Amino acid sequence: SASKTLASCIFCKIVKGEIPSFKLVETETAYSFLDINPLSKGHSLVIPKYHTEKMHELPDEELADILRVAKQIAIATGAENYNILQNNGRIAHQEVDHVHFHVIPKPSATDAEG
Ligand code: 5GP
Ligand code: ZN
Repeated sequence: SASKTLASCIFCKIVKGEIPSFKLVETETAYSFLDINPLSKGHSLVIPKYHTEKMHELPDEELADILRVAKQIAIATGAENYNILQNNGRIAHQEVDHVHFHVIPKPSATDAEG
């Protein structure tokens, strides 16, 4: 809910529309959008709509909803090969302190051009 957003958080601002994003899928819990600095075409992020820093802080039901969206996006990319990446804490390369799952397609010669 809006009461659980953090004013200084860039991903909370994206959920609120205060920073533009290319939205892919939105549910009651989850919001997904293209990564601004993609590692491959279609690299996207799936986040909870309220502010939570780390993955283990998410209630199971919300984690499940976020993963369902990640799965939906992975299927939609049509990529046979992809990585799901999820960093927690600075040492583990988390740069934005709002939980996010990366969906990173790994294009192969047999994937359709888009
Ligand atoms: P982390 O290293 O925290 O796992 O990944 C953070 C990701 O957020 C990076 O891939 C980065 O490109 C992405 N990112 C950071 N700021 C923005 C933004 O303002 N908009 C979008 N769409 N992605 C962002
Ligand atoms: Zn946030």
